Amino acid sequence: MNLPLITRAEEHNENIAIVTTDKAFSYRDLLDTSSQIATSLLENAEDLQEQRVAFLIPPGFEYVATQWGIWRAGGIAVPLCVSHPRPELEYVITNSGASIIVAHPNFEGILRAIATEKNLRFILTSDTLPSDVSRLPEIDITRRALILYTSGTTGKPKGVVTTHENIQAQVTSLITAWEWISSDRILHVLPLHHIHGIINVLTCALWAGAECHMLSKFDAEIVWQRISQGDLTLFMAVPTIYVKLIAAWSAASSDSQKSMSAGCAKMRLMVSGSAALPVQVLEKWQNISGHFLLERYGMTEIGMALSNPLHGQRSAGYVGQPLPGVEVRLVDDNGELVPPGTPGEIQVKGPTVFLEYWQNPQATAKAFQDGWFCTGDLAVVENGNYRILGRMSVDIIKTGGYKVSALEIEEVLRTHPDITECAVVGIADAEWGERVCAALVLQPERSLTLESFRSWAKEQLAVYKVPTQILLVAELPRNAMGKVTKPTVVELFR
Ligand code: ATP
Ligand code: MG
Repeated sequence: MNLPLITRAEEHNENIAIVTTDKAFSYRDLLDTSSQIATSLLENAEDLQEQRVAFLIPPGFEYVATQWGIWRAGGIAVPLCVSHPRPELEYVITNSGASIIVAHPNFEGILRAIATEKNLRFILTSDTLPSDVSRLPEIDITRRALILYTSGTTGKPKGVVTTHENIQAQVTSLITAWEWISSDRILHVLPLHHIHGIINVLTCALWAGAECHMLSKFDAEIVWQRISQGDLTLFMAVPTIYVKLIAAWSAASSDSQKSMSAGCAKMRLMVSGSAALPVQVLEKWQNISGHFLLERYGMTEIGMALSNPLHGQRSAGYVGQPLPGVEVRLVDDNGELVPPGTPGEIQVKGPTVFLEYWQNPQATAKAFQDGWFCTGDLAVVENGNYRILGRMSVDIIKTGGYKVSALEIEEVLRTHPDITECAVVGIADAEWGERVCAALVLQPERSLTLESFRSWAKEQLAVYKVPTQILLVAELPRNAMGKVTKPTVVELFR
């Protein structure tokens, strides 16, 4: 059987699939180049079944053709992150047990060295184009397709294995909910080692027969130039990207601002996810673009699970309802369903849920309860909408018998006129269990004393939620996905 993605691409044939700064590539180009790459990968083998192929290629046509080439050769694709330093690349290569590394010439030095040291096959993208193509293997969709490493927000990244069937379920759910069509044009600005960029943007676009316009990296000025051209229909990003775009918009001339906003107005949907979207960012973005951002919730292990509606009322601070084909429930510490209004752990079931943590059956077994995947995130349903309270491990602070949500406190602290960014954490304390502490980034040339901060905060928050200690920092520690790494924030208080 051919992979559904490939069958669909054959139907879209001469239509444009990928557009980069200097060139457009059709679905036919993708099919042809990916079969050449598959042929090079296969060399003397008939099928790469179960073999992991790690690849490091900047966003663009070569990236996509290589990912498809790995799939068409029957292998498991392991995308590496372009901004990771050598130890992190080595971790993913070793942990996944990759036998082949494919590298763009930009990364030849570092990756060839790793391949030589570990005795792995090394292929440069420039060497993957044989003139003849071989017969490609039949691929069953229940095969493993992808190992994506989690963002590493709470610890060492975990290798999440999804099958072709999982990917199909994740993509079709989003295509249905957000009504992707072949005339869509999306601007792709996200990293390609993470679910958001690979599934929600790239694979959805190509599944739908749409155009995916790819930038080699995120740059706020260039993103605005592209949006200003007024030909895009979709945009998806993480909250930190929206923050950077807002800053660039504010710094632009009023003429430029007009065309930036006009470009946004031409789009049909703008989405935010991967981390909590601050309400203030949502409001500023609405003023600039006219779009009330659609916030959704998901994770590497389950794809997307909850989404605000495409049509109809979206609520700031909420992530909406379960996506098509995804079952979601909230349970208490005893695994019992909680009633609306009571916080519970988000658990998810359905064909979008991953197969396993790579070579970690213990972690896989621990993550499931009666067939439901336990996300470790706490949420509450209010007026039929889910609101994310945060990660049970780092965002839910147990202080003096209360359980408080760091995300809720952060939302309030950001309304302080001098605070631009903040991260609230619980610090172990003999008397209180944990103390609420806040790392704060201030507006330029502002200062803040603990005393004045606390007296302001007491007017906004119940007293047990008011941070007892603050730390002024120049910036918050973030990972490659722009997410605040709370364990590092905790370290700052030590
Ligand atoms: P690691 O598992 O390595 O610590 P990670 O959990 O950040 O990293 P991802 O799979 O990229 O890795 O992120 C999923 C997590 O991101 C979710 O479990 C949730 O905590 C958070 N998240 C995603 N979307 C939202 C959202 N809209 N609001 C709040 N949190 C979100
Ligand atoms: Mg996680």
